[in-house]
Amino acid sequence: MSEQLIFLDGKFVKKEEAVVSVYDHGFLYGDGIFEGIRAYSGNVFRLDEHLTRLYDSAKSIMLTIPYTKEEMAHIVAETLRKNKLTDGYVRLVVSRGVGDLGLSPYSCEKATVLVIAEPLRIYPKELYETGLDIITVATRRNRSDVLNPMVKSLNYLNNVLVKIEATLAGVPEALMLNDQGYVAEGSADNIFIVRDKKLITPPGHVGALVGITRNAIIDIARAKGYEVEEAIYTRHDVYTADEVFLTGTAAEVIAVKKVDGRIIGDGKPGPITNELLESFRELTLTDGYKLYDELHVAN
Ligand code: PMP
Repeated sequence: MSEQLIFLDGKFVKKEEAVVSVYDHGFLYGDGIFEGIRAYSGNVFRLDEHLTRLYDSAKSIMLTIPYTKEEMAHIVAETLRKNKLTDGYVRLVVSRGVGDLGLSPYSCEKATVLVIAEPLRIYPKELYETGLDIITVATRRNRSDVLNPMVKSLNYLNNVLVKIEATLAGVPEALMLNDQGYVAEGSADNIFIVRDKKLITPPGHVGALVGITRNAIIDIARAKGYEVEEAIYTRHDVYTADEVFLTGTAAEVIAVKKVDGRIIGDGKPGPITNELLESFRELTLTDGYKLYDELHVAN
């Protein structure tokens, strides 16, 4: 039996007891939202930004979260503390809740809220040193005017299909284009290209989630004096870039060495990618919500 404790609708329960009704609309219809958050040495990285994205997603789909943002920050922190994790991944899910079989969300009386904290399984260290070999998949990104990727909803089938294609092709991640063929993002990561020391990442409306890691990289890069542009681009721009890297809460900043068989730059993580990864890792220790303020003082 595991000792893991999960926050579920106001209580901490054992993993084995953390079960949700089959009538929950999150399960029946993917009607809900989520966040993936990460803690580093007792610092919950940019928790406020994650919660802002969660509450913005909730507002967009008219979902009432039964806690204030401050209460939710405490719940996230408490879930990590209860599981004695200073480093880990947090999955926060808010679904429409239990209702009847009809599609209408109005049969759901109250949202289901759960928070899971676990040690993180990330890419092996070697992949950060070698870079990823990725492909472009046939699955296109949801159009942002149909199901906006900026709403981090439980509708991840689009991304799951990308993962299936990538796995079948034997690669760890893949590039997704939008309906017009412009580069959107990975299955769960944002993309940046670097050309002549300038960073370019697609804007959200192209069909990308506006990632917290992406935004942190933009801040870091600008503070270092690099030019950063949010612009629409094609696979040609990716193939011919000096550097390509992906960003995400789980992946952090990871170089791409090959796309569709084209070697990027000299086929190794580039200097700007490495520099940004190092600064990003420094930032993860300070920028956020401290789990154990008093301990930091005592130590
Ligand atoms: N795009 C998608 C589709 C994602 O699921 C994620 C992971 N949340 C990202 C990009 C990266 O976003 P973040 O940096 O906030 O993890």
